[in-house]
Amino acid sequence: MIGWPIGHSRSPLIHNYWLRQHGIAGEYRAEAVAPEAFPEFLKSLPERHYVGANATLPHKEAALRLSLPDDRAEAVGAANTLWFESGSLRSTNTDVEGFLANLDASAPGWDQTSDAVVLGAGGSARAVVFGLRERGIARIHVVNRTAERAVALRTRFGEQIHPASASELSSLLTSAGVLVNTTSLGMRGQPPLVIDIAPLRSGAAVCDLVYAPLQTELLKAARAAGHRTADGLGMLLHQAVRGFSLWFGTKPSVTPELRTLIEADLAKT
Ligand code: NDP
Repeated sequence: MIGWPIGHSRSPLIHNYWLRQHGIAGEYRAEAVAPEAFPEFLKSLPERHYVGANATLPHKEAALRLSLPDDRAEAVGAANTLWFESGSLRSTNTDVEGFLANLDASAPGWDQTSDAVVLGAGGSARAVVFGLRERGIARIHVVNRTAERAVALRTRFGEQIHPASASELSSLLTSAGVLVNTTSLGMRGQPPLVIDIAPLRSGAAVCDLVYAPLQTELLKAARAAGHRTADGLGMLLHQAVRGFSLWFGTKPSVTPELRTLIEADLAKT
């Protein structure tokens, strides 16, 4: 995991758990690398005996530029996972996969809908919107405080994206099969997410990317109203699967034991 500062990343806990579980003699490390040193560091990965890397803030855009990105990384405009393939440094954005796999695991069949509502239009919204588009959701309504950023998503991803205002939210929810919060609202230390989900179509799936706290007010309200939910920790765990598979050639599982391990770590901080 390459970052600057490296902060408190959960990725070492996740990948080192899988390395132990699969009996692979390896180690996943956190490396604090300043932006100016990042290009050289990437070049030196093989001599440092790394088979790949995750890139986190502020390196995700540079990781995209300095590698051969796949469609997902290109579309999202940021790469968070790097690996070597036929001598090239390749990259992808695993947030797309994490978002989709988490919903698939928590709310099977969630994508049998033509309408989705996405709250927020920041970096994670790009991955979410791309994933929803990949699954063929016909209308993806994006509600964001800064309207221009929702419009920018339409410019980037096309006519399936419908920027909408907060005043339209109630009526949009009546036909939405999936509601996703990609804003930082509801996160510990941030203002609450104020939303009335009473109009949400019955049987809809609700996903919150926020994972601190784990049980957000949005998820609590959704569960109380009988909707299926997918939480931010699920996305965090599922997004790690692809990197591990690419680096070590074996697909790891998101087990209840792993979830408990990360929950305990989240509880500490
Ligand atoms: P960005 O900073 O790129 O975007 C933040 C979004 O939140 C923007 O849409 C912004 O609106 C909105 N927002 C922030 N403050 C307010 C406010 N006071 N009122 C209304 N809207 C607000 O962040 P990211 O997209 O990278 O991350 C968003 C959240 O998703 C974070 O909580 C992050 O931890 C989580 N996340 C979780 C992941 C997971 O694996 N579970 C993966 C990635 C992110 P505006 O455009 O108007 O500023």
